[in-house]
Amino acid sequence: MPPRSSDATWELSVSEPNDFDVVILGGGSGGYATALRAAQLDLKVALVEKGKLGGTCLHNGCIPTKALLHAAEVADQTRESEQFGVKAELVGIDMAGVNAYKDGVISRLYKGLQGLVGGSKNITLVSGAGKLVAPNTVEVDGKRYTGRNVVLASGSYAKSLPGLEVDGERVITSDHALTLDRVPSSAIVLGGGVIGVEFASVWKSFGVDVTIIEALPRLVAAEDEESSKALERAFRKRKINFKVGKPFEKVEKTEKGVKVTIAGGDTVEAELLLVAVGRGPNTANLGYEEQGVKLDRGYVLTDERLRTGVPNVYAVGDIVPGLQLAHRGFQQGIFVAEEIAGKNPAVIDEAGIPRVTYSEPELASVGLTEAKAKEKYGADKVKTYNYNLGGNGKSQILKTTGFIKLVGLEDGPVLGVHMVGARVGELVGEAQLITNWEAYPSEVAQLVHAHPTQNEALGEAHLALAGKPLHAHA
Ligand SMILES: Cc1cc2nc3c(=O)[nH]c(=O)nc-3n(C[C@H](O)[C@H](O)[C@H](O)COP(=O)(O)OP(=O)(O)OC[C@H]3O[C@@H](n4cnc5c(N)ncnc54)[C@H](O)[C@@H]3O)c2cc1C
Repeated sequence: MPPRSSDATWELSVSEPNDFDVVILGGGSGGYATALRAAQLDLKVALVEKGKLGGTCLHNGCIPTKALLHAAEVADQTRESEQFGVKAELVGIDMAGVNAYKDGVISRLYKGLQGLVGGSKNITLVSGAGKLVAPNTVEVDGKRYTGRNVVLASGSYAKSLPGLEVDGERVITSDHALTLDRVPSSAIVLGGGVIGVEFASVWKSFGVDVTIIEALPRLVAAEDEESSKALERAFRKRKINFKVGKPFEKVEKTEKGVKVTIAGGDTVEAELLLVAVGRGPNTANLGYEEQGVKLDRGYVLTDERLRTGVPNVYAVGDIVPGLQLAHRGFQQGIFVAEEIAGKNPAVIDEAGIPRVTYSEPELASVGLTEAKAKEKYGADKVKTYNYNLGGNGKSQILKTTGFIKLVGLEDGPVLGVHMVGARVGELVGEAQLITNWEAYPSEVAQLVHAHPTQNEALGEAHLALAGKPLHAHA
């Protein structure tokens, strides 16, 4: 970055080996994205990481879960192969083999990331646990790293509930579930959000008897109600049990596993209990509050430009209230690096961030749900269209069911896209261009979608919302 005329000390400050333009605390999605973009902009970066570069997403989150979900899909396809005229038999799940496949994916990506960070002359990777000891200084093992700017990116941890002790054996979190060396015979998943639903889906495909317990009235309650209902129908068909609307009361150890009691006295027994009740911000004892950073229930409060209120201290990723997603962290990292470099980047629109639940079936969405759109614009201003995947050739070929639901403004742009079905996560890229560029249904209807693809269903839904359905009723 060229020195800013207003910053007379800039050149001096970087000539000190221990002085940086940016010191980043945490090398997960948010932290390493900040580092990579800042380095591209010729800023001198110190990236402090106490564990493994890549953080939760690469080692304990997105990537390992999606590898398990892919192995689950292979198991389902083998089990159901006869429907396609292919004779195959599912003999069993070899967890050592599944874990080797999953770990291979992680290690290739980890090597690539280490290469990217290590290959940058502008990034100094500092191994160890850091603490904010002054607004511009992070201390690691007694050594101080000072920066013109500091970016807090310390991520999140799996939360538990009062009275629920995680022992890593029978009561586990997603961290433990990702390294299980066996397929349990039965499991209870506490929490029907994205993480809980994904594990329930994997385990059912591996032959586990699964029950989800969710206090809210429906599974994946942050999604459009129709998507939740479709997922629940599909899970019922797959014989994944779930109990919604009643909170957890207690867990007891039994001879063979655990017994969970929910409000009202209902009990469920299983070999193990996965606690998937959300992720808390990892901000305790890191010096944040002492240096004046404002926290709310542990989350770092920022403005829309991700400034904490302490001059030149920013925060990115899961510690900032909002969607806890890796791609949000990446984008926030890019944003903050550009902000520091004086590039005045556009503020990130949280509603425009795509969301995918990678269960079978998948849920994918972007923009407003029908309920939120009606709340914002009034019920009479909002129109919806639900295109059934039954009319989509590729979905029929895959033997998947589901829909694409559009939420649009009367005589206005598309406000939200909500999709359910196998592989619909791959369609969210187009859906997010539509909503983020505020396209009108008639504009999308003009674009040609390849036949036969599932993508075509997005085109069909927009044709219908524009009043000229092709393979659908008006
Ligand atoms: C099971 C699971 C599945 C998920 N699946 C998806 C998915 O499919 N798609 C998606 O978008 N998101 C997914 N997520 C969420 C995603 O992993 C997070 O949103 C993302 O990792 C957040 O990035 P972050 O940089 O804020 O934090 P993290 O990735 O948690 O990184 C924080 C880093 O800071 C380090 N750190 C913490 N304290 C210190 C300290 N004092 N000193 C030095 N280093 C420190 C940690 O070691 C860690 O590496 C999933 C999460 C889980 C748990």
